[in-house]
Parts: sequence; C-alpha cells; structure tokens
Amino acid sequence: TQVMSRGLPKQKPIDGVKQVIVVASGKGGVGKSTTAVNLALALSANDSSKAVGLLDVDVYGPSIPKMMNLKGDPELSQSNLMRPLLNYGIACMSMGFLVEETAPIVWRGLMVMSAIEKLLRQVDWGQLDYLVVDMPPGTGDVQLSVSQNIPISGAVIVSTPQDIALMDAHKGAEMFRKVHVPVLGLVQNMSVFQCPKCKHKTHIFGADGARRLARTLDLDILGDIPLHLNIREASDTGQPIVFSQPESDEAKAYLRIATEVV
Ligand code: ADP
Repeated sequence: TQVMSRGLPKQKPIDGVKQVIVVASGKGGVGKSTTAVNLALALSANDSSKAVGLLDVDVYGPSIPKMMNLKGDPELSQSNLMRPLLNYGIACMSMGFLVEETAPIVWRGLMVMSAIEKLLRQVDWGQLDYLVVDMPPGTGDVQLSVSQNIPISGAVIVSTPQDIALMDAHKGAEMFRKVHVPVLGLVQNMSVFQCPKCKHKTHIFGADGARRLARTLDLDILGDIPLHLNIREASDTGQPIVFSQPESDEAKAYLRIATEVV
C-alpha cells in the first residue's frame, strides 16, 4: 500500500490521449494480445471518426509487431519523441520496435522500467480518442507502474474458462481495484470450439467458468470469443480478423465487445 500511495499522485495523462483502455490477463497465452489488437481495430471500425492507438507494454513478449505486421525503428519527431508506426489505421508503439527480437531476456529485464517510461512518455501520439494498452500477463511491477503512472478509463480482463486462468484473472481484477482502475469486465476467450466438419460444439477449456467468476466478482462479461482457426491464422499472419474478415462471426464478437467498453 505504501508503493500505491506514493504512486497515485504522480498520475499524469499521456499528451493528446483522451481515453486509455488496458487489456490484461492473469496468465500468458489466453489471448490477451489478440483481444487488444482486435479491440483497437473494432473501436476504429465501429466509429471511423475516432483515432485509435495501440501500445504494447508486454515488454518480455511483445506480440503487436507481428500481429499488426509492423517492424522497424520509430522515427523521432522534432521534439525528440518517437512516432508510432501505422497499419490498418491504428497507430502502434511496442517494445518490439525498440529491441531486437533476439535480445537476451536478462538484458531486457534490466531495462524494463526505463522502457516503460519511454513507451508511456516519449511517444508522439498526436490526438487519440482511444489508446488500447496490451499489458504483460500477471500482476507484477509493470502492470502496477502503468496503472499508477497514467489515468486509465478501464481495464478489460481476458481469460479462458479454465480454473487456473480464472484464478489468475481474479488476482488481476483485485489488483486493478486496489489501484482504483475500473474493471470494465471479462472477455471469455476460447470458450467454445465448433468442428468445421460436423459442427459439433466442444468446450475445450470448460463451458462458462468466466461467467461464474464474473458473477462472484460482480463483473460484466463483455463477450465470448470462440476458439477458431481463423482467429489464430489471422493473428499469426499479421492480418487481424477484424481487419481481414470483418463480416465473420468471430470479428463480430470483437466488434460487439468494442461497443461495451466505450
Ligand atoms: P496472450 O497475449 O494472452 O499471451 P495471444 O493473444 O498471444 O495470448 O494468443 C496466444 C495464441 O493463441 C496466439 O497464437 C493466438 O493467435 C491464439 N489465439 C488467441 N485467441 C484465439 C482464439 N479465440 N481462437 C484461436 N486462437 C486464438
């Protein structure tokens, strides 16, 4: 609590950014980055008058460069701020633009906090209506310092319906409550797999664990995303589903979630 009370008064908005929405998860591999990317695209698709940015502070495993099909060094503005890279109408900034993918993890660890400072304060976003932030998984120092440094409109927590992921999501929700960040709700990812051949539906990670957790924590479910090959392929080829197949049911699930968070 000491850390928290020291941190809170330092909160300062990011220049030019109206609303910050963070996407978090208790553990890795549950689809947090996929959700962040498609949420950013969906916010922009639902209202083309809104300017949307995507900030990847998942410093140990940045996925935004690959998912948004971007790489390269950000240019510096006249005031020495980094210019985001642009694709599919979304302004993006990521640790992955600043450090080689092959850079040793240990070295990354040493520069994590200075990297966070750079990513939060040394980017020229121009004017943004929404900045979607892809957090690292879990509830460590990075999540805490991001939450304490900038005003956040709300957090979206992604979980699979599986017990272990849910326990970690619970911890995540508690962390945000402690630092007074409103939790907008849970996204239940990979809730159902439908066989493309026989159309049978299978709940690979359980049926509705996230719904139960949402009830326990008095949180909303923002939406259910099915486990679908198209989502995986779209992400891995840098053509996120909301951009590449906006008419698909999977994309529509993200588009609906975007209407719930703003
Ligand atoms: P995290 O950010 O939580 O570590 P990712 O978003 O990187 O997770 O997702 C992990 C892997 O699972 C990626 O290969 C991604 O394409 C895939 N994935 C995420 N959500 C889905 C889904 N609903 N259906 C199929 N694959 C998914």
